[in-house]
Amino acid sequence: MTPRAPSDPDGSETTRRSLIVRTAATMGLVGLVGSVLATTQAFAADAKLSPSDIGYRPTPNGRSRCDVCVNWRPPDACKAVAGPISPSGWCGLFVRKD
Ligand code: SF4
Repeated sequence: MTPRAPSDPDGSETTRRSLIVRTAATMGLVGLVGSVLATTQAFAADAKLSPSDIGYRPTPNGRSRCDVCVNWRPPDACKAVAGPISPSGWCGLFVRKD
């Protein structure tokens, strides 16, 4: 039971105060969660694998090559692998575009 102030015999002020405190706490929690998600997404967007860790090579693997991979970002980048990437390169993350 919430204690009532002497100047608030019917408890309406206490209820209003409780509502304000709970709303502020909820908004703070929502803001904190939003900040954590934004930080995580920014980190994920910047995080790329090292070419050597993923077995990248600057030559194709048969008909599989970077410029037909879903991760290819012209003219010389990859969504998943760091560094300049050759359009005729290849790595183990290769997934052909439709
Ligand atoms: S084959 Fe590998 S390095 Fe090339 S675009 Fe695809 S994921 Fe990136």
